[in-house]
Amino acid sequence: MQGAKAYSRNAPGCVDWACRRSGRRGLLAGLGLLARDAIAATDAEAREAMVTTIAQYTSAAASALGRDKIDPRVLDVMRRVPRHVFVPASLRSNAYDDRPLPIGFGQTISQPFIVALMTDMLRTAPDQVILEIGTGSGYQAAVLSGLVRTVHSIEILAALADAARSRLREHGFGNVLVHLGNGYFGVPSAAPFDGIIATAAAGSIPLPLLQQLRPGGRMVIPIGNPFATQHLMLVEKAMDGVVRTRRTLPVRFVPFVDAG
Ligand code: SAH
Repeated sequence: MQGAKAYSRNAPGCVDWACRRSGRRGLLAGLGLLARDAIAATDAEAREAMVTTIAQYTSAAASALGRDKIDPRVLDVMRRVPRHVFVPASLRSNAYDDRPLPIGFGQTISQPFIVALMTDMLRTAPDQVILEIGTGSGYQAAVLSGLVRTVHSIEILAALADAARSRLREHGFGNVLVHLGNGYFGVPSAAPFDGIIATAAAGSIPLPLLQQLRPGGRMVIPIGNPFATQHLMLVEKAMDGVVRTRRTLPVRFVPFVDAG
C-alpha cells in the first residue's frame, strides 16, 4: 500500500518524460528507475515512521530511563541506515516495524526502539572506539558506525559473522570490524574501549569486558536469566576505576552462548 502511494506521488511527469524522450524502451527503463526511486522513497518514509515510533516510546519509558528524549544524532543515523538490507529478504516488508525479527540460527535483529535506546545510553562521541558483543545481522554495528570512529563487533556464530561482514562492507560501513569468537572474553587486542554494548543477555557482567572498558567509559548490557526477566544495565567506570551499575528497563534478549 505504501509502495503504491509513493509510486503515484512520484510518477506524474516522469513517465511522460521517459515516454516522449525515447519511446518504448525509454519508458520501460524509466519505469524501472521510477520503481526503484519509489521503493527508496518508501523506505525513507518507513524509516521516518520508525523514528517517530521510537520517539513516542521513549517518552512513555521516561521514568524508567530518567530521560525523555533519544539523542537526535542517534535518530538521524537511524533515519539513514537501510535496516531492510539487514533482515531476510522474505521479511523485507516488516523491516521498519518496531519489533525484533528472526535472522536465522534462532537469533534476532533487535527491535529498533531497543537499538536506539542502547545506542543512546552509550553516549557516544565521534572519536570513540566501541565494542559490540553479538554482531547478528550487523544492524546495531551499522548504527554505531555513523556515530563513532571504529566499531569492533564480535559474533560467536561463523555464518552470521561472515554474512554481516560482507553486508557491512557492501553497504559502505567501512569502520566496522567483525570478529569471530566468544564475546564473553571481549577483543583484548583492540582494548580498551570507550564503550561496550552487548546484544545478548548474560547472567552477570563478564569480568573481561569490565577490564576492557576504558576509565570514563560506559557499558550497556542485558543482565539476567534467559528464562526470567532480564534488565538493561548501564555500567559506568569512573576515571579512578570505580564501577557503578544502574538497572533500567526490563528487556528480553537471546542468551549469551557459552558464557565463560
Ligand atoms: N546486534 C544484533 C542482534 C544480536 S542477537 C543485530 O543488530 O542484528 C544476539 C547475537 O549474539 C546473536 O547473533 C548470537 O549468535 C550472538 N551471541 C550470543 N552469544 C555470544 C557470545 N558469547 N559471543 C559473541 N556473540 C554471541
